[in-house]
Amino acid sequence: MTITILTITLILFFIAIIFYGYSFMVNPQKNEHNLEMEKCSLCKVRFIKDELILRQVGDSKLFYFCRNCIKSLADELKI
Ligand SMILES: [Zn+2]
Repeated sequence: MTITILTITLILFFIAIIFYGYSFMVNPQKNEHNLEMEKCSLCKVRFIKDELILRQVGDSKLFYFCRNCIKSLADELKI
């Protein structure tokens, strides 16, 4: 009985390792991208930093704006 439980645990352990390794192979830069995520200051949706425009207000305050928010602001100006 103990051996069976150990065997099942080991098999589950190997399956977990295989899945973890597979997801790492498919997207090896996933963790790096997570570090570069930043929230849009207007809609609060998280984006990769490269997709956001950064504006500094004053000495220290930084604002990030996403494409959608900039587009909607531009649309408002046209009215
Ligand atoms: Zn936004």
